[in-house]
Amino acid sequence: MSTNASEFERAQRVLVGGVNSAVRAFRAVGGTPRFIARAEGAYMWDVEGRRYIDYLGSWGPMIVGQSHPKVIEAVTRAARDGLSYGAPNVMETELAERICGIFPHVERVRFTSSGTEAAMSALRLARGFTGRDAIVKFEGCYHGTADSLLVKAGSGALAFGTPSSAGVPADLARHTLVAQYNDLASVEALFAEHGGRIACVMVEPMPGNMNLIVPKPGFLEGLRELCTRHGALLIFDEVMSGFRVALGGAQELVGITPDLSAFGKVIGGGMPVGAIGGPAKVMEMMAPLGTVYQAGTLSGNPIAMAAGIATIDLIREPGFFERLGERCSRLVAGLNDAAREAGVAFCARHRGGMAGLYMLPQPPASFAEVQRQDVDRFKRFYHLMLDAGVYLPPSPVEAFFFSSAHSDADIDATIAAARDALKAVA
Ligand code: PMP
Repeated sequence: MSTNASEFERAQRVLVGGVNSAVRAFRAVGGTPRFIARAEGAYMWDVEGRRYIDYLGSWGPMIVGQSHPKVIEAVTRAARDGLSYGAPNVMETELAERICGIFPHVERVRFTSSGTEAAMSALRLARGFTGRDAIVKFEGCYHGTADSLLVKAGSGALAFGTPSSAGVPADLARHTLVAQYNDLASVEALFAEHGGRIACVMVEPMPGNMNLIVPKPGFLEGLRELCTRHGALLIFDEVMSGFRVALGGAQELVGITPDLSAFGKVIGGGMPVGAIGGPAKVMEMMAPLGTVYQAGTLSGNPIAMAAGIATIDLIREPGFFERLGERCSRLVAGLNDAAREAGVAFCARHRGGMAGLYMLPQPPASFAEVQRQDVDRFKRFYHLMLDAGVYLPPSPVEAFFFSSAHSDADIDATIAAARDALKAVA
């Protein structure tokens, strides 16, 4: 019989670490990764037939839950017409029209096959547009695996102690200037020294890759002002926060307009996708109209476009985000009550359908504060939750993801599991 342990052993013989994306290997929490056989609504089932309430949501895309009938129908219909053309299809325009309608600064879109490619291409575009090489990023922010961005990165890179990857040439990494999120002075200092060299500031406006962090009032406003003053582009990486913390992403919540946005996850409804969006005058620097090269065999793939269109149409229904936010609030309040009851330094918060739980008495405001979490306690908590049938992202530095498929009963079951787990780790 196939078990998680037997499948993990088998996978490790042919896949590096048994996985195709590092954090899936459970090294940040220990134990055996669960091999998922099936997912529907708010649940995933492993190869042993055990059911989990899914707060991973494929790391963000599954905001309407797994296998939503409308998304499956759209994908099935599209698949009957062929899997990939390598020539234009109308669904690319239809999804781009929706994104342009939701994000006021986006006049042109370019689709890619991943968030990594979106962030990488946005970076190249900013460098091509400004004719400058240096970029500013923030310690603990993750933008995928492009070389220039794997410097003091978050997510799995952070969890495994390799925030700055080997294999990135020092000659390239020296163009990546690193600042501290929520610390405007750290960015001002970089601009004071390197202002004329900086092509862009790349930021997760509401980071989810050093767990969920929210911007302090004035921080993103300050970035906007500095970029404008120094002729650098402000790039919001909304791959995770876009269509997730609000329909119009973090930029809608904070009311700040970047020069370029990177998207992914939700806009592909679970299929591989990414996108760059921005004003025509910047975007049209890209091939075939301009000199910044960008392309992809599977970019704008019809199945991915169909899944994205179906997902966006579900979440742009009036009241979707209000309902999602209210229900996620109830979950977060229940988790915070459970922590108080157990007397554990633990807390949770959310923005829209993106949430964070922390082994800390108060939600953190900075990378340094996130690092103060009690990681051993998190590991024990993690496995107690998993054993109780609650699948959280397997790392203390990741956000977790709520969907419209999570029912009141799922929320209650999660709070009950957390109450027991927190008492046990107290
Ligand atoms: N940017 C952000 C903010 C992300 O959260 C991620 C993935 N978690 C990426 C970029 C990279 O996206 P992908 O994994 O699709 O390459």
